[in-house]
Amino acid sequence: MNSDNPEKDRDELVFVALGGLGEIGMNVYLYGIGPSDDREWLMVDLGITFPGEHEPGVDIVLPDLRFIEAEAQALSGIVITHAHEDHIGAVIEMSPRLRAPIYTTPFAAGMLKAKLAEFGAANTPDIREINPESRYRVGSFDLEYVAMSHSIPETSGLVIRTEKGTVFHTADWKLDRAPLVGKPTNEKRIEEIGQEGVDVLVCDSTNAFRDGTSPSETEVAESLAKIIEQESGRVILTTFSSNVARIKAVGDAARATGRQLVVAGRALHRVIRVAIDAGYLPQDFSYVDQEHFGYLAADEALALVTGSQGEPRAALSRIAQGEHRDIKLGKGDAIIYSSRIIPGNEKGILEIQNKLAGLGCKIITDNEGLVHVTGHPRRDELRQMFDWIKPRLMVPMHGEMRHLKENARLARLAGIPSVAPVSDGQMLRMLPGKPKIIDDVPVGRYFRDGKLIIAEGEGSVRERRKLSAVGLVAVALAMTPRGDILGDVDLALDGVPEEDAEGELMEDLVLDAVDRTIDSVPPKRRKDIEMVREAVRRSVRSAVDRAWGKRPIVKVLINVVPTKH
Ligand SMILES: [Zn+2]
Ligand SMILES: [Zn+2]
Repeated sequence: MNSDNPEKDRDELVFVALGGLGEIGMNVYLYGIGPSDDREWLMVDLGITFPGEHEPGVDIVLPDLRFIEAEAQALSGIVITHAHEDHIGAVIEMSPRLRAPIYTTPFAAGMLKAKLAEFGAANTPDIREINPESRYRVGSFDLEYVAMSHSIPETSGLVIRTEKGTVFHTADWKLDRAPLVGKPTNEKRIEEIGQEGVDVLVCDSTNAFRDGTSPSETEVAESLAKIIEQESGRVILTTFSSNVARIKAVGDAARATGRQLVVAGRALHRVIRVAIDAGYLPQDFSYVDQEHFGYLAADEALALVTGSQGEPRAALSRIAQGEHRDIKLGKGDAIIYSSRIIPGNEKGILEIQNKLAGLGCKIITDNEGLVHVTGHPRRDELRQMFDWIKPRLMVPMHGEMRHLKENARLARLAGIPSVAPVSDGQMLRMLPGKPKIIDDVPVGRYFRDGKLIIAEGEGSVRERRKLSAVGLVAVALAMTPRGDILGDVDLALDGVPEEDAEGELMEDLVLDAVDRTIDSVPPKRRKDIEMVREAVRRSVRSAVDRAWGKRPIVKVLINVVPTKH
């Protein structure tokens, strides 16, 4: 489009999230420049989230990208801010649908490549490595990575310079002047960018309810070493496997306390390998595999394990159940939860902690000492950012609705003239003029379910949830085309009690209901198979309901067997 094009007046900078606004997870942000019928798009992050208890059998939750898939030819690139799953987790599965190159720093690229090597992919994504703190172009977007401290190396805020104005997209961040691994937030550069003039600040809201400033990773490392020092039994520590600084802190504590570091869990091994390659852990970072654990004296063993969120298949869950092949615990041993509880995971985590307590282990969480620190800005840090950037408009991101609104409130109090707490799918015109919601785009969730990706609305997960509550009764029978029943009726009851309160077998109740129903249909009318099926289904369901007080899912299979003449 050349500069004397009258269409130019319709040029605008818009923003819409396909995930991440109204939830902590599944971050997918889009910036669009140009008139509504001819926009160029930039995607920032492409993450996943994890299923809740009401989504049985779902491995991960992926964003619905319908909106941008329809505009894929206008998507110039996908920029990744850091390697956390809620920002990068959908890249391997979803980016082939978008056909746009992926821009990321070397550490996140290393994490993507390690995953590709482990799990493979139908299509290899086009990954372009960009050095931290460099300025580069993606289409007509002039971008700059700014070093932010967080809880994984190379987290990068993003300055997005466009013809319409400048945005600072903070990514996940905190102000940690002693992050132990990687660079601290580049405060000087952020100040300069603020002086240069930023129109819009798009800012992390996760900790908008927490006062003060968060402690540094270095303080956590010192505290962990002291806590481990005091223990005389085996020590197990669990943390988010991507937290390289915490892994380093545990390695340092092992050395300082004369213990051998043991690592258990595939995700931890992957992160350690990538971090050594990228120079975030020393080349001689000393650790051994889990099979060595049993050979160590109790006061020489320090194991770093996966499973801080109660994941049933992770190492810690198996250790708690006494089912881990190599790591056995008992009285006098200690478990350190160097992590927080992600809302929704409380039950699973407490179940494991109860089992560990039952084994006689001591459990140390952040209630007992400084064993974890957040990677997100608290109120004083947010205020500092507002002061450095002084934007005209602040758009809160990375939070549930209550976090977004709170961050908006803080920004207003700090004197930012305009705030726009929007939710997923609401397209916001950021520039020019006053911010305004101008459109609603489709958003939603997909489930990875085994090898398949299914839409949230498809129903199979809903059906599974129902099955888990009420069980299944299957009735199979054979009929001639004339409507005579052949042989016996066959039954299968899954997840249904065996007998009712009087001790009558549920199977017998079901069989009676089937017989009664078939007898009640005149033979001539039995030719209508669908009618028979529905009548049997209803009568079985109400018979079980009378006996149990619950209506199971009932499936009636009718095999029509041609008769010989
Ligand atoms: Zn993060
Ligand atoms: Zn995040």
